[in-house]
Amino acid sequence: MLFHTHILAGIAFFFFLSNFFPAAKLWLFLGILLGSILPDIDEQHSKVNRWAGMVGILIAFFAKHRGFFHSLPCFLGLTFLLQVLGQPALGWGLLLGYASHIILDGLTRQGIAPFWPFSSWKVRGPFRVGSFAEQLFFLALVIFVVVEVL
Ligand SMILES: [Zn+2]
Repeated sequence: MLFHTHILAGIAFFFFLSNFFPAAKLWLFLGILLGSILPDIDEQHSKVNRWAGMVGILIAFFAKHRGFFHSLPCFLGLTFLLQVLGQPALGWGLLLGYASHIILDGLTRQGIAPFWPFSSWKVRGPFRVGSFAEQLFFLALVIFVVVEVL
């Protein structure tokens, strides 16, 4: 999925989940926004990769796009790291946004390898990145978010 679809899906996810997190909504929101785009740090032309500067350059050089950074081992490692750091609202937001990104990429034809680097088996879906179907999905997200804001 494209950047704008991921970020709007993260915002929609926030509105869907925010009732379960009555406190610290700002941290939850920021975490979801970051988590919804963070996995694409492994793609050298992505916005988040460019924003990460030297770290992004190194990650894109060593990591395959939709490899480790789109996998369950990375997700679990991030979960462990956030537990250690003790940032509950930001951490939950980041994990939920990260999960939304991986699930959406799993719906595309390119798919994701959830158990990378232990297995290259892929989860794939019917949607092409940037296709008309994705544009329709994006429009549905816009309507959902607008209804939630009003
Ligand atoms: Zn991605």
